[in-house]
Amino acid sequence: MKEYMYTMTMSYREIKRVKEELVKILRSRLSEEALRRALRDTHSRRAPRACGLTVHVGIGCSNRCLYCYIQDMGFRFTETRPYPLSGLELVAAIAHNPYIVPGIQGTYLAFGSISDPFYPTVVVKTLDYFNNIERFMRNPCQFSTKMTIDDEVIEAMRRLDLVISPLVTIVTITRHRELEPRAPDPWTRFDTIRRLRKGGLQPFLFLRPLIPGIIENEIDELMDEAKRAGAVGVVIGGFRVTKTILRRLERAGVKVDELRRRLRGRLRGTKQVNLNLRDLKELALEVAKERGLIGLLSACCAMTNVLNLHGYRLACANVCFAEGLCVLKKGYVCKARCPEKVPKVDEDDIKEAIEEVLKARGLTHLYIDREYIEVHARALEYNEGALRFLQTVYRRRIVIRR
Ligand code: SF4
Ligand code: SF4
Repeated sequence: MKEYMYTMTMSYREIKRVKEELVKILRSRLSEEALRRALRDTHSRRAPRACGLTVHVGIGCSNRCLYCYIQDMGFRFTETRPYPLSGLELVAAIAHNPYIVPGIQGTYLAFGSISDPFYPTVVVKTLDYFNNIERFMRNPCQFSTKMTIDDEVIEAMRRLDLVISPLVTIVTITRHRELEPRAPDPWTRFDTIRRLRKGGLQPFLFLRPLIPGIIENEIDELMDEAKRAGAVGVVIGGFRVTKTILRRLERAGVKVDELRRRLRGRLRGTKQVNLNLRDLKELALEVAKERGLIGLLSACCAMTNVLNLHGYRLACANVCFAEGLCVLKKGYVCKARCPEKVPKVDEDDIKEAIEEVLKARGLTHLYIDREYIEVHARALEYNEGALRFLQTVYRRRIVIRR
């Protein structure tokens, strides 16, 4: 029997009740030492990002991609070490995180930010984490990978009562030897897409980073091959660079002048700066449309599409439909159609959530529509995590009026 509890109700009170129960169950399963380890871990307090809470199955990555920023974050390119928490400890850490909504309608969990979740040394850890998430929480899970995934592992993922969204990263066919010296070649990765699809999952091509000067010449072939391999769609990502990344790319013969021209801020130390890639993203959306692939601008939108393909009528947890990231607003097709799936909410429930989560005192303005909840109070305390928590509960942007 599965031990998860979840609810489709978009109600703060219900989610609070489920979370308290979940914490109680997990505390009864862990030794004091294991619980301490879970509570000390950053998964118990980090705020989710746009793609969800990043789940670390490993530390470091030996693939050494030249455009990767993990080295600038203090991680190594020399090895991929399994993350120290057990699956049960990880779930306990996540359940204690005040910014996490548990359940299938809850916070997305994103695997693959500081290491590849299918690097041989961490595959067992990744499956252990999936198993425990299935058993206790059932939150939607998304992974990004460049590695080969064995058919047995694909079958193990398919058998889980969990919605998993696979992203397979391929950004170049011609320059992979210089740019991704230790990762499997793109043809092996297209084969991974093919086998994931055959195995019953819904893989997307992950086109990130979008590298100016390279992508323009390769975009047609990349999308043709992804379509042929059975990708459901493509997530078109951005590119954040640091001084070190530009230096590495220049040494590999990439024309970095074009990258510098597109910088959206000053490079300093290890700071990551976004490139302005609007034109290339528009181009990629057009090419995807011509191929009959769902083109998306955010990884969370792929997760939302996969949830909907599994029959869960859920709007994007990152509420992308309330801003420019939604491709519907640009005239493209997205089968998730989030604006039609925004849940009904209860005003008293929202007031209670605002008082408890945002510590609001003297609420003077509360306006609720299909995309936003506007709040004004005499006193409020909030941070990114608290806002993301409420956004996920109500599937609406939380706007604090001053
Ligand atoms: S596979 Fe991902 S995490 Fe590993 S080096 Fe490449 S970009 Fe970085
Ligand atoms: S409808 Fe818009 S917000 Fe929803 S998944 Fe599609 S692109 Fe994202």
